[in-house]
Amino acid sequence: MIDLYSDTRTQPSHGMRRFMAEAEVGDEQADLDPTVTALCERVADLLGKEKAVYLPSGTMCNEIAYRVHCRPGDEIILDRTAHGIIAEAGGPAALALAMLYPLDGVRGQFGPAQVQSAIRSGSRYEPRSRLISIEQTSNWGGGSIWPLDTIRAIGDVAHANRLSMHMDGARLMNAVIGSGIAASDYAEPFDSLWLDFSKGLGAPVGAVLAGSADFIHEAWRLKQQMGGAMRQAGIIAAACLYALDHHVDRLGQDHENAKHLASGLAALDGISLDPSLIETNIVFFDLEPHTPSAPSVAAQLLDKGVRIGAMGERRMRAVTHLDIDRDAIDFAIKAMADVLRT
Ligand SMILES: *Cc1c(COP(=O)(O)O)cnc(C)c1O
Repeated sequence: MIDLYSDTRTQPSHGMRRFMAEAEVGDEQADLDPTVTALCERVADLLGKEKAVYLPSGTMCNEIAYRVHCRPGDEIILDRTAHGIIAEAGGPAALALAMLYPLDGVRGQFGPAQVQSAIRSGSRYEPRSRLISIEQTSNWGGGSIWPLDTIRAIGDVAHANRLSMHMDGARLMNAVIGSGIAASDYAEPFDSLWLDFSKGLGAPVGAVLAGSADFIHEAWRLKQQMGGAMRQAGIIAAACLYALDHHVDRLGQDHENAKHLASGLAALDGISLDPSLIETNIVFFDLEPHTPSAPSVAAQLLDKGVRIGAMGERRMRAVTHLDIDRDAIDFAIKAMADVLRT
């Protein structure tokens, strides 16, 4: 099976499994797991923040961060396609008791003027604007990389209005490799941000949330409260350390494969796709009206051993990752050509 459904579909490699098996471990809940401690220090350092906390998932990073930043009724400004809106089961409402102010961005990205006009007046009738949240890279924006200038300009608006900044960095390292800009440079305007290890970095589980010492102190209380504190978690945290050593630089191959896939698909009759927009490892495309529907094309591809997600009646998404090589991409393009021809 050539699984392009998501970069969450990676299998831990032999080397990663061996490194996990040999990890030194302890009681993580009591700060006694040396592997978790090493991972948190390493990520805090990478992102230029004081402290970090290891969490089971990226979703928990977003939800805990939103809760630390917001009091009930406060408002979070974010793109309409943000993960917190479409894929966290209403968590911002249920857990952070926050209002959400969705902006209509372009490929998942909005600008400083949109943020400025979304900020509330401070009147007692309105919710209180509290936080700006962005996704680097934007998932539903097709893996688009937020330019550093845009991030800085939004940070200036945030700070002038005493709002905080949060980055959903599920694929921050894809942005780093795609742009050549350091993670700490992207991180600088943010009060909190996190990396996901179970996406393109290829670990089976885990995410790390970073920020100031005070922020992480509060985040740890909520981790405990939600039952996210662990015991000998170094077994899984080791996979994240391994990923930092072995799976970051190679993300460039995923980006090359995504571009190759996009060019191959764009050349097929029935597919609408601009390959020049592909910046990282996510390829969204649309099926033209004379083709079968996306769910039907997805089902036919599955019969040929290729999994690509149907993200609507006409929209599909393919994501490259470390278990997908160039031959797999060529196979997938050919399978799509066969499906569209019949
Ligand atoms: C996957 C993803 C998340 C959530 O991460 P999990 O580890 O799956 O909980 C959040 N934001 C974005 C942009 C994602 O792609």
